[in-house]
Amino acid sequence: MIEVKPYWQNYVDGHWVDGGDGRISVLNPAESAVLAEQALADAADIDRAVSAAKRVHQSGVLFALRPVERGRMVRAMGQYLLEHIDEIAPLLSLEQGKTLWEARGEVTNSARYFEYYGSQADTLEGSSIPLGAGYFDFTVNEPYGVSAQIVPWNFPMEIASRGIACGLTTANAVILKTPELAPLSSSWFARAAEAVGVPAGALNIVCGYGASAGAALSAHVDVNQIVFTGSVRTGMAIAAAAANNVVPCVLELGGKSAAVVHEDADLDAFQRDVRMGIYLNSGQVCSAMSRIVVHRSRHDELVERVTALAASIDVGPGIERKDFGASMGAMISEPQRDRAAEMVSAAVGDGATVAAGGRKLNRPGAFMEPTVITNVTPDMAIAQDEVFGPVVSVMPFDNEADAIRIANGTDYGLVAGVFTRDLDRATAAARQLRAGQVFVNEWFAGGVETPFGGFGKSGYGREKGREALWNYVQTKNVAIKLGARS
Ligand code: NAD
Repeated sequence: MIEVKPYWQNYVDGHWVDGGDGRISVLNPAESAVLAEQALADAADIDRAVSAAKRVHQSGVLFALRPVERGRMVRAMGQYLLEHIDEIAPLLSLEQGKTLWEARGEVTNSARYFEYYGSQADTLEGSSIPLGAGYFDFTVNEPYGVSAQIVPWNFPMEIASRGIACGLTTANAVILKTPELAPLSSSWFARAAEAVGVPAGALNIVCGYGASAGAALSAHVDVNQIVFTGSVRTGMAIAAAAANNVVPCVLELGGKSAAVVHEDADLDAFQRDVRMGIYLNSGQVCSAMSRIVVHRSRHDELVERVTALAASIDVGPGIERKDFGASMGAMISEPQRDRAAEMVSAAVGDGATVAAGGRKLNRPGAFMEPTVITNVTPDMAIAQDEVFGPVVSVMPFDNEADAIRIANGTDYGLVAGVFTRDLDRATAAARQLRAGQVFVNEWFAGGVETPFGGFGKSGYGREKGREALWNYVQTKNVAIKLGARS
């Protein structure tokens, strides 16, 4: 067990500082006991962080760097995280509940964002636009300036990494508002920045409540761009705040994503996809496979396999689950776990059947059994609303049109999957599925290189992939009238 220091400060303008809103107790959800205290920023702290970021931006210090140098700095931050993975991953596991092997994976993926984006700093070329004799015209990709980033608790490091890496790579100064339920491991971003020589004020890490610090940040008049990942409700508030200040924002919101499983699918392989698709991070994944829409001829076999899988998963304190395998940690909090359990009970009230799990674990901590629900109809709340827990709903279909209609039949549109050996069928489904990302024969296929984001209420704008970098720059066109000799 690692020693967790009792109190964690925010990082503003290169200094470790207390918060104007006092402190919050961060719980270890595997024990529902206090792990440490975290400083809570108020609006005045946010204002100081934004002022520092604005000063850095206006000084031009980041934009003046040769891009390859800025890129090396960003890559070095990722390297620093990897060098400290043995300290960061246990902390992340303890504060968030996920297994240690998942936490190690998250830190590794975080580092990968710094590597991927840092390596592209010198590739953001502009273009030259022909205007005929007498003119020379070109475009430059300039940073917006102050990038405000607000992230949720489910992957606090991974989600923050993509924003910080893109922001710094493109010479923006960044303020990260960390999630109040799992803020501790994000302090390692500040340590990384200090260690590799990021200028003071270019990266600020502040924890605070959403309604106070988060709202103050998203509404701040000196913020030039906002990146938000979280719930639809908060996303709407952020979009309104961005609109008020006429600044762009990227919204990565929730999902209710479906896997469409055809009669010719390889169910051995699909069972492994379910393992990661819905039980990774206890189902607290925006792109979780929360619905399975399966051809009626394979329904019973699939339910049998998925219930056996659910029953085989070993659930308990994440910190004790070190090795990759069929294990699951605690959910983020007891209220979040209770909400998931209540949604399962409500589904039973609506006529659904619990085929596996469905209950809280009878032990301290925010644990829930891996759950499979059958006899679900597409209009039930359990098939429409995001549970954000280890709960998958299985629904049969009779023909392809039916399958697509069920899969597309929610307000969301984050990801979708199709499982079949028939390439024509897969490509037709990929066209018809209303989602920002379609997986064929492997849930979560892709990587940091592939653009990610939603259709519909799942948000707009894309993160990950090269496409994300364009969210952080604005085009400036320079038109030069040449002299008579041209
Ligand atoms: P949330 O919206 O409650 O909180 C997310 C962040 O926003 C937190 O840091 C919170 O403090 C802050 N916040 C809350 N109210 C705010 C306000 N009024 N103004 C500014 N900031 C505010 O979401 P959550 O419960 O922490 O996270 C779960 C949700 O996030 C789920 O819906 C999930 O699907 C979504 N999510 C989406 C993605 C994605 O990439 N699409 C990834 C992970 C999670």
